Amino acid sequence: MNVNASFKCPECGQQVEDGVIEMIFELHDTHVTVSNVPAKVCPNCGQEFIDGYVAENVNRLVDRVIEDVDSYAKKVVRLPSTPRQIAITA
Ligand SMILES: [Zn+2]
Repeated sequence: MNVNASFKCPECGQQVEDGVIEMIFELHDTHVTVSNVPAKVCPNCGQEFIDGYVAENVNRLVDRVIEDVDSYAKKVVRLPSTPRQIAITA
């Protein structure tokens, strides 16, 4: 999706504004929260729009964090029923 400065919300036609959002990824037993993700936000209905390249960067960031955490997690004992919570900032 290409989001430019004059992008209007397809839901309500309102001009969207620059903002940051929080993205939550649920992968297996790990929940990753990415905050401070740059996005366009509709001030009217709250729809959030993320550029394709931003989404790609966030996905890469999450992949890397997951890999790091997996290698770290082998050294620590944790309850299998408790999902890990990871919070990172874009
Ligand atoms: Zn809207």
